[in-house]
Amino acid sequence: MDYEKVLSNRAKTIKPSGIRKFFDLASQMEGVISLGVGEPDFTTPWAIREAAIYSIEKGRTFYTANRGLSELREEICKYYQRKFNVSYDPEKECIVTVGGSEGIDIAIRAIIDPGDEMIVLDPGYVAYTPGVELSEGIAVPITLRHEDQFKLTPDLLKAAITPKTKAILLNYPSNPTGGFMTKEDYAKIVPIIKESGIIVISDEIYGELSYEDQFCSIASFEEIKDQCIIINGFSKAFAMTGWRLGYVLSNPVLSKAMLKIHQYIIMSAPSPAQYGAIEGLKHCDDEVQQMRESYKARRNFCVKAFNDMGLETFKPQGAFYVFPCIKSTGLTSDEFCEKLLDDQKVACVPGTAFGPAGEGFIRVSYAYSIEELKVATEKIAKFVKKIKG
Ligand code: PMP
Repeated sequence: MDYEKVLSNRAKTIKPSGIRKFFDLASQMEGVISLGVGEPDFTTPWAIREAAIYSIEKGRTFYTANRGLSELREEICKYYQRKFNVSYDPEKECIVTVGGSEGIDIAIRAIIDPGDEMIVLDPGYVAYTPGVELSEGIAVPITLRHEDQFKLTPDLLKAAITPKTKAILLNYPSNPTGGFMTKEDYAKIVPIIKESGIIVISDEIYGELSYEDQFCSIASFEEIKDQCIIINGFSKAFAMTGWRLGYVLSNPVLSKAMLKIHQYIIMSAPSPAQYGAIEGLKHCDDEVQQMRESYKARRNFCVKAFNDMGLETFKPQGAFYVFPCIKSTGLTSDEFCEKLLDDQKVACVPGTAFGPAGEGFIRVSYAYSIEELKVATEKIAKFVKKIKG
C-alpha cells in the first residue's frame, strides 16, 4: 500500500509535537526523572470521583445534551461569575467539551477560513499552530520577550495585526513560560483589540493556578466581551486530565457555530466526567486551594534552585512551569536537554518545542513533589557546573 497516496496533505505536513518527540527519547532510557509532563501529580478530589462513580451506579450512562448537562453549564457560569466576575448564559453561551483541547479546535474551526490569519504567541502551547493549520489558516507568531516576562505588549500586538487578521489566541497564565497578564496589562491591549474588531480566543485553563495577583479573564472587559471566546477546563485546577472535560464560553452566535461542529464530531462530552465536575464546582474550592498552595511552594523552590545554579529564571505568577534561560551555558535548548538526559537522566523540554522564540530556554514542570524536585534540580545543578567548568 502506498500510504503517501492515501494520506491527506494535512496529515502529511502537520509536524509532530516537540514534546512527544523528546519524551520518546527519554522513554527508551531507564531510571529517568522527568520534569517534562504538564500534568498535575495530584489525584482528582474524592468528592468528584465519588459523584462520577455514583452516576455510573445509577445507570446515568447515556449521551447528555450536546451542550452538556444543564446543571453543569449552570455551575460553570456561576463559577465564572463568582471567581472572575464574567457572566455567561448557560443555555446559549456555554458548551461542555472534551477537554480544553476540543474547545481550542472548535473555536478555531468556527472562525478560520483558508488564508485567514490567526496571531499566536511564541513561545506558546504546542496545539495552537497545528490547529490553525488544520483549518488551512495562517498562524502569525508574535515573538514575546524575556525582558517582558513573555507578556503581550501593545507594541507587539499593533505590529502583528493586518487586514487579514481574524483572531488572536492568548494563553495566560502561559504554558510554557508561566507568563501572566494582570488586569493592568490587559487594559493596555484591550483598546487595540476593540478597534481592530478581531476575535480573541483566550485559553484560561491555568487561570485558577495564579499565585499573586487575582487572575483576570480578558472577557471581564465589557467593551470586548462579545469578541472573546473563552476556553477552560477541569484538567489542571481540578487535577482531572484523564477525564477529558472542558468548556467554551462565548456570545450566542459564536457558540451556536461551535455547537454545530461539536455535535457532529463529539455529540456530547463523557457523562460520568460531567457528573463529577458538577460536584467539583460546587464543593471542591478547598481542595483546589490546597493544590494551588502546594504549586506555589514548589514554584518558589524551583525559581530559587535555578537562579542559584546560575540559570536566570523569572518568578512565574501562574501555571506550573518555570522557564529557565540556559544561554549562559553556550548550548542550544535541544543540546542542553539531550546532554542533560544523557549525563544525569533528567528530562526537561527544550524551549524550541514551543516555537523558535523558545531558543535559549527550557521548560520545567513543577507538578512534582518537592522531594522529586530536589533530586532533579541537584542533578541539573551538577550538569550546569560541569558544562560551565
Ligand atoms: N491549553 C493549555 C495551555 C494546556 O497546557 C493544555 C494541556 N496541556 C490544554 C490546553 C489542554 O488541556 P485539556 O484538553 O486536558 O483540557
